[in-house]
Amino acid sequence: MNIILLGPPGAGKGTQAQRLVERHGMKQLSTGDMLRAAVKAQTPVGLKAKAVMEAGELVSDEIVSALIGDELDAMPEGQGAIFDGYPRTAPQAESLGELLASRGKKLDHVIELDVNEDALVERITGRYTCASCGKGYHDTFEKPAVEGTCDKCGGHEFKRRPDDNEETVRTRMAEYRAKTAPILPIYEVQGIVARVDGMADMDEVTAAIEAILGKR
Ligand code: ADP
Ligand code: AMP
Repeated sequence: MNIILLGPPGAGKGTQAQRLVERHGMKQLSTGDMLRAAVKAQTPVGLKAKAVMEAGELVSDEIVSALIGDELDAMPEGQGAIFDGYPRTAPQAESLGELLASRGKKLDHVIELDVNEDALVERITGRYTCASCGKGYHDTFEKPAVEGTCDKCGGHEFKRRPDDNEETVRTRMAEYRAKTAPILPIYEVQGIVARVDGMADMDEVTAAIEAILGKR
């Protein structure tokens, strides 16, 4: 099964994708994670993307679609994909359709996480991850069971994203409204969009997503 998790920054896409990976062995394909890895490794893509990401703007469609194509090629036959943060524009949605079709795959669900924008700044400015395994946390909403120790891998180092500040978040939300939300109708006509209340508790959001996945 191949699904898109769609929603503005902080909606909970990464949180829910990590849970689907653990429960179902699906592969999380986060273009944000891929780009951050490229920035860290100072690859040509990373060098191009760094300033754009720090400003909260969108990296070019060609770059992100190429990253997704490479990841799809590296996946074992039969493994399901969770597209997280991709597609973000109409041309990316078109590319994704072509990338999947040329590999004999298709999209099963587009799950929109419906959230109140006012809550997102708090979610994003409180977000951090384990530096070793990438498990996501929040200062208020998802603390490790033992302070300073990752629940998943026992690591003690955590990191915050340079673009998780209020000013950049506002730009990222505006980009979402202007360029990403308008791609929903493309999938609505295909009859594959489901909406989930992203303001609910994390576990409730997971249960709602599981119910959708169970339908097909
Ligand atoms: P996205 O990948 O959509 O940008 P994340 O999954 O990283 O969003 O979530 C942003 C922050 O909000 C994280 O710190 C996460 O722990 C927290 N979070 C995610 N889902 C919820 C929820 N349903 N309720 C409260 N906090 C949440
Ligand atoms: P994310 O981790 O999804 O919040 O993405 C972080 C940043 O990476 C975004 O603000 C963009 O600058 C860039 N980015 C991630 N995915 C895409 C994409 N599909 N298209 C364009 N830019 C992207």
